[in-house]
Amino acid sequence: MSDNTPLRWLFLDLNSYFASVEQQFRPELRGKPVIVSPAESEFTSAIAASYEAKKYGIKTGTMIADARVMCPGVVVVQARHDVYVKFHHAIVKEVWNHIPVTTICSIDEVACALMGRERKVENAVAIANSIKRGIRKNVGEWLGCSVGLAPSRMLAKVAADMQKPDGLTILEAHDLPTKLLPLKLGDFPGIGWNMSTRLRERGVETVGDLWQLTRQRTRALWGSIEGERFWYELHGYDIPDRPEAKKSSIGHSHVLAAKMRDPDAARLVARRLLLKAGTRLRRMGLASGAMALHAIFEGGEPPDKWKKRSWRNDEGWGTDIRFHPTQDTAYLLTKLDEEWAALMREKPNRRFKSVGIVLHGLCPAGHVTPDLFAPGHEQKSQGQGVDLYSAVDRINKKYGQDTVALGVLPGQIAKYVGAKIAFNRIPDLAEFDE
Ligand SMILES: [Mg+2]
Repeated sequence: MSDNTPLRWLFLDLNSYFASVEQQFRPELRGKPVIVSPAESEFTSAIAASYEAKKYGIKTGTMIADARVMCPGVVVVQARHDVYVKFHHAIVKEVWNHIPVTTICSIDEVACALMGRERKVENAVAIANSIKRGIRKNVGEWLGCSVGLAPSRMLAKVAADMQKPDGLTILEAHDLPTKLLPLKLGDFPGIGWNMSTRLRERGVETVGDLWQLTRQRTRALWGSIEGERFWYELHGYDIPDRPEAKKSSIGHSHVLAAKMRDPDAARLVARRLLLKAGTRLRRMGLASGAMALHAIFEGGEPPDKWKKRSWRNDEGWGTDIRFHPTQDTAYLLTKLDEEWAALMREKPNRRFKSVGIVLHGLCPAGHVTPDLFAPGHEQKSQGQGVDLYSAVDRINKKYGQDTVALGVLPGQIAKYVGAKIAFNRIPDLAEFDE
Protein backbone atom coordinates (compact mmCIF):
# COMPACT_ATOMS: atom_id res chain seq x y z
CA MET A 1 0.00 0.00 0.00
CA SER A 2 1.37 3.42 -0.88
CA ASP A 3 1.06 6.73 0.90
CA ASN A 4 -1.52 7.99 -1.55
CA THR A 5 -3.92 5.17 -0.75
CA PRO A 6 -7.21 7.00 -0.29
CA LEU A 7 -9.69 6.88 2.56
CA ARG A 8 -12.23 4.38 1.33
CA TRP A 9 -14.53 3.86 4.30
CA LEU A 10 -16.50 5.83 6.80
CA PHE A 11 -17.61 3.84 9.84
CA LEU A 12 -20.12 5.25 12.28
CA ASP A 13 -20.79 3.89 15.76
CA LEU A 14 -23.32 5.40 18.15
CA ASN A 15 -21.95 6.03 21.63
CA SER A 16 -23.48 4.02 24.49
CA TYR A 17 -26.37 3.48 22.12
CA PHE A 18 -29.15 1.98 24.24
CA ALA A 19 -28.30 4.15 27.23
CA SER A 20 -28.20 7.27 25.06
CA VAL A 21 -31.56 6.42 23.51
CA GLU A 22 -33.03 6.07 27.00
CA GLN A 23 -31.57 9.45 27.94
CA GLN A 24 -32.90 10.93 24.73
CA PHE A 25 -36.35 9.52 25.40
CA ARG A 26 -36.39 10.36 29.11
CA PRO A 27 -34.67 13.71 29.70
CA GLU A 28 -34.74 13.13 33.45
CA LEU A 29 -32.05 10.48 32.91
CA ARG A 30 -29.65 12.84 31.17
CA GLY A 31 -26.39 13.42 32.97
CA LYS A 32 -27.05 10.44 35.23
CA PRO A 33 -25.33 7.07 35.43
CA VAL A 34 -27.71 4.78 33.52
CA ILE A 35 -27.39 1.15 32.58
CA VAL A 36 -29.68 -0.89 30.37
CA SER A 37 -30.60 -4.38 31.48
CA PRO A 38 -31.93 -7.03 29.08
CA ALA A 39 -33.89 -8.88 31.79
CA GLU A 40 -35.39 -8.31 35.20
CA SER A 41 -32.58 -9.93 37.04
CA GLU A 42 -29.74 -8.67 39.19
CA PHE A 43 -27.55 -11.38 37.72
CA THR A 44 -27.74 -10.47 34.10
CA SER A 45 -25.23 -8.22 32.33
CA ALA A 46 -25.80 -4.64 31.29
CA ILE A 47 -26.13 -4.27 27.53
CA ALA A 48 -25.21 -0.59 27.70
CA ALA A 49 -23.85 1.97 30.14
CA SER A 50 -24.09 5.75 29.84
CA TYR A 51 -20.89 7.75 29.94
CA GLU A 52 -21.77 8.88 33.44
CA ALA A 53 -21.94 5.19 34.47
CA LYS A 54 -18.71 4.42 32.65
CA LYS A 55 -16.90 6.86 34.92
CA TYR A 56 -17.51 4.35 37.71
CA GLY A 57 -15.90 1.57 35.72
CA ILE A 58 -19.25 0.12 34.66
CA LYS A 59 -19.35 -1.15 31.10
CA THR A 60 -21.35 -3.31 28.75
CA GLY A 61 -21.14 -6.76 30.28
CA THR A 62 -21.00 -5.61 33.93
CA MET A 63 -23.47 -7.57 36.05
CA ILE A 64 -26.35 -5.42 37.33
CA ALA A 65 -25.65 -6.37 40.96
CA ASP A 66 -21.99 -5.39 40.57
CA ALA A 67 -22.94 -2.11 38.89
CA ARG A 68 -25.05 -1.18 41.93
CA VAL A 69 -22.01 -1.73 44.16
CA MET A 70 -19.70 0.24 41.87
CA CYS A 71 -22.14 3.13 41.66
CA PRO A 72 -24.88 3.09 44.31
CA GLY A 73 -26.91 5.75 42.49
CA VAL A 74 -26.95 3.96 39.16
CA VAL A 75 -30.30 3.95 37.36
CA VAL A 76 -31.17 0.54 35.92
CA VAL A 77 -33.62 0.64 33.03
CA GLN A 78 -35.18 -2.32 31.27
CA ALA A 79 -34.29 -2.64 27.61
CA ARG A 80 -37.00 -1.53 25.19
CA HIS A 81 -35.95 -3.02 21.94
CA ASP A 82 -38.80 -1.57 19.94
CA VAL A 83 -37.62 1.94 20.79
CA TYR A 84 -34.01 1.12 19.86
CA VAL A 85 -35.18 -0.30 16.55
CA LYS A 86 -37.17 2.84 15.80
CA PHE A 87 -34.17 5.05 16.51
CA HIS A 88 -31.99 2.71 14.47
CA HIS A 89 -34.13 3.26 11.39
CA ALA A 90 -34.18 7.02 11.97
CA ILE A 91 -30.38 7.08 12.26
CA VAL A 92 -29.83 5.03 9.11
CA LYS A 93 -32.23 7.29 7.25
CA GLU A 94 -30.34 10.35 8.47
CA VAL A 95 -26.98 8.91 7.34
CA TRP A 96 -28.50 8.35 3.89
CA ASN A 97 -29.15 12.11 3.73
CA HIS A 98 -25.38 12.61 3.68
CA ILE A 99 -23.93 9.51 2.05
CA PRO A 100 -25.23 6.12 0.84
CA VAL A 101 -25.06 3.41 3.49
CA THR A 102 -23.18 0.37 2.24
CA THR A 103 -23.60 -1.98 5.20
CA ILE A 104 -25.61 -1.96 8.37
CA CYS A 105 -23.24 -3.75 10.70
CA SER A 106 -25.38 -3.78 13.84
CA ILE A 107 -28.13 -1.83 15.50
CA ASP A 108 -25.78 1.08 16.14
CA GLU A 109 -23.12 0.77 13.46
CA VAL A 110 -23.04 1.48 9.75
CA ALA A 111 -20.27 1.39 7.18
CA CYS A 112 -20.27 3.64 4.11
CA ALA A 113 -17.94 3.24 1.16
CA LEU A 114 -16.42 6.54 0.10
CA MET A 115 -16.37 7.25 -3.64
CA GLY A 116 -14.65 9.78 -5.85
CA ARG A 117 -14.30 13.17 -4.22
CA GLU A 118 -15.56 11.82 -0.89
CA ARG A 119 -12.20 10.11 -0.53
CA LYS A 120 -10.31 13.39 -0.09
CA VAL A 121 -9.58 13.89 3.60
CA GLU A 122 -11.24 17.28 3.90
CA ASN A 123 -14.38 16.08 2.11
CA ALA A 124 -14.60 12.89 4.18
CA VAL A 125 -14.23 14.92 7.37
CA ALA A 126 -16.95 17.32 6.21
CA ILE A 127 -19.31 14.40 5.55
CA ALA A 128 -18.55 12.90 8.96
CA ASN A 129 -19.28 16.17 10.71
CA SER A 130 -22.48 16.77 8.80
CA ILE A 131 -23.72 13.27 9.73
CA LYS A 132 -22.94 13.96 13.39
CA ARG A 133 -24.80 17.26 13.28
CA GLY A 134 -27.68 15.72 11.35
CA ILE A 135 -28.19 12.96 13.89
CA ARG A 136 -28.28 15.44 16.77
CA LYS A 137 -30.59 17.79 14.89
CA ASN A 138 -32.99 15.35 13.26
CA VAL A 139 -32.87 12.18 15.37
CA GLY A 140 -31.96 13.20 18.90
CA GLU A 141 -29.83 15.88 20.51
CA TRP A 142 -28.51 13.36 23.05
CA LEU A 143 -27.27 10.91 20.44
CA GLY A 144 -23.55 11.13 19.96
CA CYS A 145 -21.50 9.01 17.65
CA SER A 146 -17.91 8.23 16.81
CA VAL A 147 -16.76 8.14 13.23
CA GLY A 148 -13.72 6.44 11.77
CA LEU A 149 -12.22 7.15 8.34
CA ALA A 150 -9.69 4.73 6.88
CA PRO A 151 -8.57 2.91 3.73
CA SER A 152 -10.26 -0.37 4.75
CA ARG A 153 -13.55 -1.09 6.43
CA MET A 154 -11.95 -2.86 9.37
CA LEU A 155 -9.55 0.01 10.01
CA ALA A 156 -12.44 2.46 9.81
CA LYS A 157 -14.24 0.48 12.52
CA VAL A 158 -11.08 0.42 14.63
CA ALA A 159 -10.70 4.16 14.09
CA ALA A 160 -14.28 4.80 15.22
CA ASP A 161 -13.48 2.95 18.45
CA MET A 162 -10.36 4.98 19.12
CA GLN A 163 -12.13 8.10 20.32
CA LYS A 164 -15.29 8.05 22.39
CA PRO A 165 -17.59 9.76 22.91
CA ASP A 166 -18.19 11.97 19.90
CA GLY A 167 -14.98 11.04 18.16
CA LEU A 168 -13.69 11.53 14.66
CA THR A 169 -10.55 9.57 13.93
CA ILE A 170 -8.73 9.44 10.63
CA LEU A 171 -6.32 6.67 9.81
CA GLU A 172 -4.45 7.52 6.65
CA ALA A 173 -1.95 5.25 4.98
CA HIS A 174 0.98 7.20 6.43
CA ASP A 175 -0.46 6.74 9.95
CA LEU A 176 0.04 2.98 9.73
CA PRO A 177 1.02 1.28 11.87
CA THR A 178 2.04 4.13 14.21
CA LYS A 179 -1.46 5.14 15.30
CA LEU A 180 -2.43 1.50 15.80
CA LEU A 181 0.46 0.62 18.09
CA PRO A 182 -1.13 1.78 21.37
CA LEU A 183 -4.11 -0.55 20.78
CA LYS A 184 -4.59 -4.02 22.23
CA LEU A 185 -5.05 -7.12 20.09
CA GLY A 186 -8.64 -7.39 21.31
CA ASP A 187 -9.42 -3.96 19.89
CA PHE A 188 -9.49 -5.47 16.40
CA PRO A 189 -12.65 -7.04 15.03
CA GLY A 190 -12.20 -10.77 14.71
CA ILE A 191 -9.78 -11.02 17.63
CA GLY A 192 -11.88 -12.28 20.48
CA TRP A 193 -10.69 -13.79 23.69
CA ASN A 194 -9.83 -17.14 22.14
CA MET A 195 -7.96 -15.65 19.24
CA SER A 196 -5.90 -13.28 21.37
CA THR A 197 -4.97 -16.18 23.63
CA ARG A 198 -3.91 -18.20 20.62
CA LEU A 199 -1.91 -15.28 19.22
CA ARG A 200 -0.19 -14.68 22.56
CA GLU A 201 0.75 -18.33 22.83
CA ARG A 202 2.42 -17.99 19.47
CA GLY A 203 4.41 -14.91 20.45
CA VAL A 204 2.12 -12.25 19.01
CA GLU A 205 1.59 -10.00 21.99
CA THR A 206 1.35 -6.49 20.64
CA VAL A 207 -0.16 -4.76 17.66
CA GLY A 208 3.42 -4.21 16.51
CA ASP A 209 3.91 -8.00 16.47
CA LEU A 210 0.63 -8.38 14.60
CA TRP A 211 1.67 -5.83 12.03
CA GLN A 212 4.97 -7.62 11.39
CA LEU A 213 3.30 -10.94 10.49
CA THR A 214 3.32 -11.98 6.87
CA ARG A 215 0.08 -12.63 5.09
CA GLN A 216 0.82 -16.37 5.00
CA ARG A 217 1.66 -16.47 8.70
CA THR A 218 -1.52 -14.57 9.59
CA ARG A 219 -3.56 -17.03 7.60
CA ALA A 220 -1.84 -19.93 9.35
CA LEU A 221 -2.48 -18.40 12.78
CA TRP A 222 -6.16 -17.93 11.99
CA GLY A 223 -6.36 -21.37 10.48
CA SER A 224 -8.53 -20.07 7.65
CA ILE A 225 -8.76 -17.66 4.77
CA GLU A 226 -10.22 -15.23 7.30
CA GLY A 227 -6.64 -14.63 8.51
CA GLU A 228 -5.63 -13.52 5.08
CA ARG A 229 -8.59 -11.19 4.88
CA PHE A 230 -7.61 -9.81 8.25
CA TRP A 231 -4.06 -9.15 7.04
CA TYR A 232 -5.28 -7.25 3.99
CA GLU A 233 -7.72 -5.14 5.98
CA LEU A 234 -5.14 -4.44 8.69
CA HIS A 235 -2.69 -3.20 6.10
CA GLY A 236 -5.28 -0.94 4.54
CA TYR A 237 -6.25 -2.95 1.49
CA ASP A 238 -9.88 -2.81 0.59
CA ILE A 239 -11.19 -6.23 -0.24
CA PRO A 240 -14.70 -6.96 -1.43
CA ASP A 241 -16.94 -9.30 0.48
CA ARG A 242 -16.39 -12.77 -0.79
CA PRO A 243 -18.89 -13.90 -3.40
CA GLU A 244 -20.09 -16.76 -1.21
CA ALA A 245 -20.86 -14.26 1.51
CA LYS A 246 -23.35 -12.63 -0.82
CA LYS A 247 -25.07 -15.50 -2.47
CA SER A 248 -24.60 -18.86 -1.03
CA SER A 249 -26.13 -20.90 1.69
CA ILE A 250 -24.93 -23.95 3.54
CA GLY A 251 -27.43 -26.74 3.61
CA HIS A 252 -27.74 -30.37 4.49
CA SER A 253 -30.72 -32.64 4.32
CA HIS A 254 -31.19 -36.26 5.09
CA VAL A 255 -33.72 -38.94 4.18
CA LEU A 256 -34.39 -40.84 7.37
CA ALA A 257 -34.00 -44.55 7.85
CA ALA A 258 -37.18 -46.31 9.05
CA LYS A 259 -36.04 -46.43 12.66
CA MET A 260 -35.20 -42.73 12.69
CA ARG A 261 -38.62 -41.50 11.65
CA ASP A 262 -40.21 -40.71 14.99
CA PRO A 263 -40.04 -37.07 16.17
CA ASP A 264 -37.28 -37.55 18.75
CA ALA A 265 -34.97 -39.37 16.35
CA ALA A 266 -35.72 -36.88 13.57
CA ARG A 267 -34.84 -34.02 15.90
CA LEU A 268 -31.48 -35.59 16.67
CA VAL A 269 -30.76 -35.94 12.97
CA ALA A 270 -31.68 -32.28 12.43
CA ARG A 271 -29.26 -31.31 15.22
CA ARG A 272 -26.56 -33.41 13.64
CA LEU A 273 -27.12 -31.70 10.28
CA LEU A 274 -26.87 -28.33 11.98
CA LEU A 275 -23.58 -29.29 13.65
CA LYS A 276 -22.25 -30.22 10.26
CA ALA A 277 -23.42 -26.97 8.69
CA GLY A 278 -21.95 -25.03 11.63
CA THR A 279 -18.56 -26.63 11.14
CA ARG A 280 -18.60 -25.70 7.49
CA LEU A 281 -19.68 -22.17 8.32
CA ARG A 282 -16.68 -21.67 10.60
CA ARG A 283 -14.29 -23.26 8.17
CA MET A 284 -15.42 -20.79 5.54
CA GLY A 285 -14.92 -17.91 7.97
CA LEU A 286 -18.57 -16.93 7.66
CA ALA A 287 -21.40 -16.09 10.01
CA SER A 288 -25.02 -16.92 9.36
CA GLY A 289 -27.96 -14.62 10.03
CA ALA A 290 -30.77 -16.95 9.02
CA MET A 291 -31.69 -20.58 9.32
CA ALA A 292 -34.31 -22.61 7.51
CA LEU A 293 -35.55 -25.89 8.91
CA HIS A 294 -37.55 -28.27 6.78
CA ALA A 295 -39.28 -31.49 7.70
CA ILE A 296 -41.13 -33.66 5.20
CA PHE A 297 -43.66 -36.08 6.67
CA GLU A 298 -43.97 -39.68 5.54
CA GLY A 299 -45.86 -39.78 2.27
CA GLY A 300 -45.14 -36.09 1.63
CA GLU A 301 -43.03 -34.31 -0.95
CA PRO A 302 -41.08 -31.08 -0.53
CA PRO A 303 -42.70 -28.07 -2.24
CA ASP A 304 -40.96 -26.31 -5.11
CA LYS A 305 -38.41 -23.71 -4.03
CA TRP A 306 -38.59 -24.93 -0.48
CA LYS A 307 -35.30 -23.70 0.75
CA LYS A 308 -35.69 -20.24 2.20
CA ARG A 309 -39.21 -19.60 3.34
CA SER A 310 -41.77 -20.70 5.87
CA TRP A 311 -44.51 -23.04 4.79
CA ARG A 312 -46.63 -25.79 6.28
CA ASN A 313 -49.16 -28.21 4.97
CA ASP A 314 -50.03 -31.87 5.27
CA GLU A 315 -46.87 -32.93 3.50
CA GLY A 316 -44.43 -31.09 5.66
CA TRP A 317 -43.37 -28.11 7.67
CA GLY A 318 -40.78 -25.45 6.98
CA THR A 319 -39.62 -22.39 8.83
CA ASP A 320 -37.13 -19.66 8.11
CA ILE A 321 -35.89 -17.49 10.95
CA ARG A 322 -33.54 -14.51 11.28
CA PHE A 323 -31.10 -13.59 14.01
CA HIS A 324 -27.96 -11.59 14.57
CA PRO A 325 -25.28 -13.18 12.35
CA THR A 326 -23.33 -15.74 14.31
CA GLN A 327 -20.85 -18.59 13.99
CA ASP A 328 -21.88 -20.04 17.29
CA THR A 329 -23.33 -23.50 16.92
CA ALA A 330 -24.56 -23.51 20.52
CA TYR A 331 -26.73 -20.54 19.71
CA LEU A 332 -27.95 -22.07 16.45
CA LEU A 333 -28.88 -25.24 18.31
CA THR A 334 -31.07 -23.30 20.72
CA LYS A 335 -32.78 -21.71 17.72
CA LEU A 336 -33.32 -25.12 16.17
CA ASP A 337 -34.78 -26.42 19.42
CA GLU A 338 -37.21 -23.50 19.58
CA GLU A 339 -38.34 -24.16 16.03
CA TRP A 340 -38.63 -27.86 16.64
CA ALA A 341 -40.82 -27.19 19.66
CA ALA A 342 -43.10 -25.08 17.44
CA LEU A 343 -43.24 -27.89 14.92
CA MET A 344 -44.21 -30.33 17.68
CA ARG A 345 -47.01 -28.03 18.81
CA GLU A 346 -48.39 -27.56 15.31
CA LYS A 347 -47.91 -31.04 13.93
CA PRO A 348 -47.73 -33.50 16.80
CA ASN A 349 -47.39 -37.23 16.34
CA ARG A 350 -46.11 -37.25 12.79
CA ARG A 351 -43.52 -39.53 11.29
CA PHE A 352 -40.82 -37.91 9.20
CA LYS A 353 -39.44 -38.87 5.85
CA SER A 354 -36.66 -36.31 5.75
CA VAL A 355 -35.26 -33.28 7.53
CA GLY A 356 -33.10 -30.46 6.22
CA ILE A 357 -31.23 -27.44 7.53
CA VAL A 358 -30.13 -24.42 5.51
CA LEU A 359 -27.95 -21.65 6.93
CA HIS A 360 -28.14 -18.49 4.87
CA GLY A 361 -27.86 -14.72 5.26
CA LEU A 362 -24.12 -15.34 5.25
CA CYS A 363 -21.49 -12.67 5.84
CA PRO A 364 -17.80 -12.67 6.72
CA ALA A 365 -17.44 -13.42 10.43
CA GLY A 366 -14.95 -10.60 10.92
CA HIS A 367 -17.57 -7.97 10.12
CA VAL A 368 -20.06 -9.14 12.70
CA THR A 369 -20.45 -7.33 15.97
CA PRO A 370 -21.39 -9.65 18.82
CA ASP A 371 -25.07 -9.57 19.61
CA LEU A 372 -25.36 -7.75 22.92
CA PHE A 373 -28.96 -8.78 23.33
CA ALA A 374 -27.98 -12.34 23.93
CA PRO A 375 -26.67 -12.77 27.47
CA GLY A 376 -24.02 -15.40 27.54
CA HIS A 377 -23.91 -15.50 23.78
CA GLU A 378 -20.87 -14.02 22.12
CA GLN A 379 -20.34 -11.29 24.64
CA LYS A 380 -16.75 -10.17 24.43
CA SER A 381 -15.43 -13.54 23.41
CA GLN A 382 -17.16 -14.28 20.22
CA GLY A 383 -15.54 -17.67 19.96
CA GLN A 384 -16.43 -19.01 23.37
CA GLY A 385 -19.66 -20.67 22.34
CA VAL A 386 -17.99 -21.92 19.22
CA ASP A 387 -15.57 -23.99 21.22
CA LEU A 388 -18.08 -24.81 23.91
CA TYR A 389 -20.75 -26.36 21.80
CA SER A 390 -19.05 -29.60 21.01
CA ALA A 391 -18.22 -30.22 24.66
CA VAL A 392 -21.78 -29.40 25.67
CA ASP A 393 -23.12 -31.70 23.03
CA ARG A 394 -20.94 -34.56 24.19
CA ILE A 395 -22.10 -34.13 27.77
CA ASN A 396 -25.74 -34.03 26.75
CA LYS A 397 -25.30 -37.05 24.58
CA LYS A 398 -23.78 -38.97 27.42
CA TYR A 399 -26.07 -37.87 30.25
CA GLY A 400 -29.26 -37.01 28.44
CA GLN A 401 -30.58 -34.00 26.66
CA ASP A 402 -30.41 -30.64 28.45
CA THR A 403 -28.06 -31.87 31.13
CA VAL A 404 -26.21 -28.75 30.14
CA ALA A 405 -28.58 -26.01 29.05
CA LEU A 406 -27.46 -23.84 26.17
CA GLY A 407 -28.21 -20.14 26.19
CA VAL A 408 -29.82 -17.96 28.79
CA LEU A 409 -31.13 -18.98 32.18
CA PRO A 410 -34.72 -20.24 32.09
CA GLY A 411 -35.87 -17.55 34.52
CA GLN A 412 -34.74 -14.84 32.13
CA ILE A 413 -35.86 -16.33 28.92
CA ALA A 414 -39.51 -15.40 28.55
CA LYS A 415 -39.19 -11.65 28.55
CA TYR A 416 -36.00 -11.67 26.61
CA VAL A 417 -37.31 -13.89 23.86
CA GLY A 418 -40.30 -11.63 23.32
CA ALA A 419 -38.13 -8.59 23.02
CA LYS A 420 -35.60 -10.25 20.83
CA ILE A 421 -38.14 -10.93 18.13
CA ALA A 422 -38.45 -7.21 17.62
CA PHE A 423 -34.71 -6.81 17.53
CA ASN A 424 -34.26 -9.53 15.00
CA ARG A 425 -36.08 -7.60 12.35
CA ILE A 426 -33.35 -4.98 12.12
CA PRO A 427 -30.55 -6.77 10.35
CA ASP A 428 -33.27 -8.15 8.13
CA LEU A 429 -32.23 -5.47 5.67
CA ALA A 430 -30.83 -6.60 2.38
CA GLU A 431 -27.13 -6.61 3.17
CA PHE A 432 -27.27 -9.60 5.46
CA ASP A 433 -29.31 -11.60 3.03
CA GLU A 434 -28.14 -10.84 -0.48
MG1 LIG B 1 -21.77 1.74 19.83
